[in-house]
Amino acid sequence: MNQSPPATQLDADGRLRHLLTLEGLPRTTICALLDRAEALRAQSRGGTRRLDLLAGRTVINLFFEPSTRTRTSFDLAAQRLGAQVINFDIASSSTVKGETLLDTVHTLEAMHCDAFVVRHKESGTPEFIAQHLHSAAAVLNAGDGNRAHPTQGLLDALTLRRHVKDFSALRIVICGDIRHSRVARSDVHAFSALGVRELRLCAPAELAPDPGEFPQCSIFHDFDAAIASADVAIMLRLQKERMQAAAIPSEAEYFQRYGLSTQRLRNAAPDCLVMHPGPINRGVEIASDVADGPQSLILQQVADGVLVRMAVLAELLERD
Ligand code: ASP
Repeated sequence: MNQSPPATQLDADGRLRHLLTLEGLPRTTICALLDRAEALRAQSRGGTRRLDLLAGRTVINLFFEPSTRTRTSFDLAAQRLGAQVINFDIASSSTVKGETLLDTVHTLEAMHCDAFVVRHKESGTPEFIAQHLHSAAAVLNAGDGNRAHPTQGLLDALTLRRHVKDFSALRIVICGDIRHSRVARSDVHAFSALGVRELRLCAPAELAPDPGEFPQCSIFHDFDAAIASADVAIMLRLQKERMQAAAIPSEAEYFQRYGLSTQRLRNAAPDCLVMHPGPINRGVEIASDVADGPQSLILQQVADGVLVRMAVLAELLERD
């Protein structure tokens, strides 16, 4: 596994110039972003006070895949820092007339913009854009294929950090469609950098990662074994849009074997924290009473997502 971030992600002084992946990012950089998010929580009084750190800056959201949480929170994050935001509408753009991705990007750059927030089904697209920019704009990866979702990894760490003092004591299980999940990859990179004691990945054999991809994790196919004494359970959706054919027999059977029910949660450590990046599929990977229950941090993750995105935007754009 590649341990260093892509060269395009860092400037000549080794500072973040784009945010493409958490892979290889040092713990100090990750902690600095989380600390900044906490500082912004206080400064913005939980989002009720608008700041002007990025006044006069323009952020373009370029989402080629559907999104509810990530797009809205990048939009709010930029606005709460005083930036202007353009939500580029792919469906009514010249993309449908055959304009290439780079022609679209260069066209938008010619109007001047400071950052592109990019989501795309092809892994590597944000990096490709970063390598071909004509300007000094920053590229922020908002999810590329099954490769990376760095702000999700950061926000999961931020939410967890509010509940847990010592990451080195934590046993975390991530369960679901690991093979197709960019969230799993970014979470593993974030939690490994932060020194988590044990990372368990659990999936049916068809949805497990390639052997050797995650040397720092233990791989399980039996969720009852994987959740035993876990302090945190992160549940993932089946990424049907990334599967060739139906890789699981039925949703009911999947829930039976891999769904997080109240009963199964009892096998975890007492007060095990429950997380999910959303969108949740109730009754498939998680039962409603667990998703809405007292151990669930799902809506707190959503709230922390805005702060993490404010921190990343401020870090990348403020200093230019
Ligand atoms: N929202 C997350 C993502 O974009 C998780 C998911 O879609 O299942 O990767």
